[in-house]
Amino acid sequence: MAPPRDEDDAVSVSSGKRLVHTSDKEFQSLAISEPSKRALAEVFKYQFMTVVQAETLPVILAGRDCLAKAKTGTGKTLAFLIPAIEKLPGWRASETQRHIPILVLSPNRELAAQIGAEAEQLLRFHPNKRVVCVVGGTNINTEKNSLDRGNVAVLVATPGRLIDHFESTRGFQQSLSGISTFVLDEADQLLDMGFKPALDRILGFLPPSSLRQTLLFSATVPPAVKQIADVFLRRGYSYVDTVGEEAEQTHLHVQQHLTSVSMDDMNAALLSMLSQQLLTPNLKFIVFFTTARMAGFEADLFETLRLPVLQIHSRMSQNARTRTSDQFRTGTNLILFSSDVSARGLDYPDVTYVLQVGFTEKSQYIHRLGRTARAGREGSGMLLLHDFEENAMRRELSGLPLEKIDASALQMDACRARVSAALGEVGRNADLRTAAEQSYQAWLGYYNGKLRVLNWSKDTLVDRANYYSRTLGLSQIPALQKKTVGKMGLKGVAGLRIVG
Ligand code: ADP
Ligand code: MG
Repeated sequence: MAPPRDEDDAVSVSSGKRLVHTSDKEFQSLAISEPSKRALAEVFKYQFMTVVQAETLPVILAGRDCLAKAKTGTGKTLAFLIPAIEKLPGWRASETQRHIPILVLSPNRELAAQIGAEAEQLLRFHPNKRVVCVVGGTNINTEKNSLDRGNVAVLVATPGRLIDHFESTRGFQQSLSGISTFVLDEADQLLDMGFKPALDRILGFLPPSSLRQTLLFSATVPPAVKQIADVFLRRGYSYVDTVGEEAEQTHLHVQQHLTSVSMDDMNAALLSMLSQQLLTPNLKFIVFFTTARMAGFEADLFETLRLPVLQIHSRMSQNARTRTSDQFRTGTNLILFSSDVSARGLDYPDVTYVLQVGFTEKSQYIHRLGRTARAGREGSGMLLLHDFEENAMRRELSGLPLEKIDASALQMDACRARVSAALGEVGRNADLRTAAEQSYQAWLGYYNGKLRVLNWSKDTLVDRANYYSRTLGLSQIPALQKKTVGKMGLKGVAGLRIVG
């Protein structure tokens, strides 16, 4: 049976929380046990494998060690749980009583809980198999009791707590002395969080790699992850890369336009583009700004214009960022105003359009553009520049197929009036004014780092920044702390308002 196709010919399956791109391979076509097949069909209700599942499952089911690289949200968890659980029937009952066949390492508690929950679902029709999570920040004795009850098929652990158990729980090392599958999930995060020494210690407690199957899953494979793979996995392991050079090659299939306008027209141009895009059904649109403060201010401003704008940037709490990110991932007809926190790592599967505002480095430009046209979908990108940045940006992006659109095509007249009404709010709304002032300072800092590429003197910088403050609807140039001015190396430059 052919998989269902949606309009733009990419396959998307709603999995409750988010959209997942699937392959055309069905789970039922795999040579796996009936209880697992039944759980996939009845509990998970999945028919088609995701791409990483389709590519890794045959390799892992054949018993090979595997390093798999696939983006966040592509279904890596089942890619290791299914084959690991497949080996369980080979275990004798007396062995499972005391021995734990599957060990999964996870960088944090939340992820461990998610993996544990998926394992339980997959084990639904496998009789008498338990899942236990051992994670930091919880009562270790409760975990010991739970381990004592036996029949643990899957143990999910964070590194620190796992070591605690190796050191203090009687019989624990013995119970893991015969593991059949060892998984390091989100390996890049494990290393980013400084768990390398912990991993090395854990390795010392486990049977040698020749006596177990080891699987390493990661969204990215920097050299440190590669090194871990070389130590933890058997030689000749298979490397499955479903990401490839996708981000680097985005420019080959993403349509890209560039337009430049005067500082006065920046917001009107932005409003015009957003209004045009809002006519697209199922719009999911990211606008990147050069700094967190600019993203914040612009989002606040466009909210007053009643556009469906969300914001995400480094000046927000992690909780607020997670909430926005989830909202954007699951919703449609949304515009995300973002700083570069979204350029790497986060996966929003169905972004239709990426707009970048202001000068940026080529690698960053390509990464941001890579947020659209994922998984073979159509996407497009637009670069909105200040007129003073156009030449520098064209030099920076030389070789990329950028097509210039004349600003006159933007029909900004009506937008100018709406923007100027919104900017009037800056005078009345203290929060908006603070955001504008912070944006001014961030602007100054950002372009201060670009003096060379723009061929600007410090005087020109301050002059432009002050002009920028007026386009923010501010009636006076925001004051800067003396030490901020010092740090920026702008002491003595005329035109700054300095306090303290
Ligand atoms: P990753 O580890 O790659 O970030 P997860 O394993 O957490 O991804 O999976 C992301 C989401 O996709 C989960 O909600 C998961 O249940 C769902 N999912 C996994 N496999 C499939 C599939 N074959 N079809 C539909 N949804 C799936
Ligand atoms: Mg994962």
